[in-house]
Amino acid sequence: MRGSWHLGRFADIDVRIHWTFLLVPLWIYFSSLAAGLGVASATVSVLFVLSIFACVLFHEYGHALMARRFGIPTRDITLLPIGGVASLERMPRRPVHELAIAVAGPAVNVVIAAAIFIGFAIVDPTAGATTSFLSRLAVVNVALVLFNMLPAFPMDGGRVLRSLLAMTMPYTSATRIAANVGQITAVGFGLLGLISGNLMLVFIAGFIFLAARGEAMMANMPDRHDVAGVPPTNDESVDAVKARLRNQPGPNFPDVRSLPIISSQWNAKSALGWLCNHSLEKFLVSSGGSVVGMISRSDLQRVVHEGRGAMAIERLLALRIIPMQSLRSA
Ligand SMILES: [Zn+2]
Repeated sequence: MRGSWHLGRFADIDVRIHWTFLLVPLWIYFSSLAAGLGVASATVSVLFVLSIFACVLFHEYGHALMARRFGIPTRDITLLPIGGVASLERMPRRPVHELAIAVAGPAVNVVIAAAIFIGFAIVDPTAGATTSFLSRLAVVNVALVLFNMLPAFPMDGGRVLRSLLAMTMPYTSATRIAANVGQITAVGFGLLGLISGNLMLVFIAGFIFLAARGEAMMANMPDRHDVAGVPPTNDESVDAVKARLRNQPGPNFPDVRSLPIISSQWNAKSALGWLCNHSLEKFLVSSGGSVVGMISRSDLQRVVHEGRGAMAIERLLALRIIPMQSLRSA
């Protein structure tokens, strides 16, 4: 992630921290001082926030280490002011794996909270400051579990919902339903934030809403490690288009038929991600089940570089942001 620093490497996973993360302890420290709390309590407040982020880091390790059990490596874990992100190299293929990976994060916080509560039960709670510090940390861990299990992307609860749905229906339908539930939840949170005047809640709601929409779009994106299997559109698979193209007599473009095919409905960024598997410069574009033309990798790279990676190829072609090349020029 851009603007993040390398913090260290634990269990063969790089931990990174986004620079904006530093604003949190600074803000806590100075707002505590401004509230007249004194340097000692301000420092304790900072330590408390750092402890929460340690719990968030353990949570992300829960996801990452469970993913590793299913042979999915994690590129890195990044800590942001709003939480942590474990960047898995790919999505799990089986719903039951996705379920296990999604649940593993909150499970870590359950264990932390339980350990603190059980610790108090065994050791007589007589200490003052330490006791309230730890019991507050336990409460925060319970809150982390509840918040993460909301059925909304990018929360773990959204992934749990999707994986459960995906056991009975196609993956894309499961994602669409889960993303819709996520957006409805986000709108609910937004309204709650507006009514109660809590701007932080409105901000989080906006974030969830956009993430849920992004997830719905990602559903059409193929797993870049699974080139052959994933259909580019709902109407026809890459293999089907290729097979038909192979059978089609075409003396004019014999070489074209060996080119990879991308769907015009993919966005530029996901197409580019998928094209990592190929070293070729040109690609066929399919639309509505037929091959409509050819585009070049450098055009896609330019578009993503210009910050238009989220636009569908169809739209980029229609607006002539990327040129469609004739099949005969291959
Ligand atoms: Zn999580």
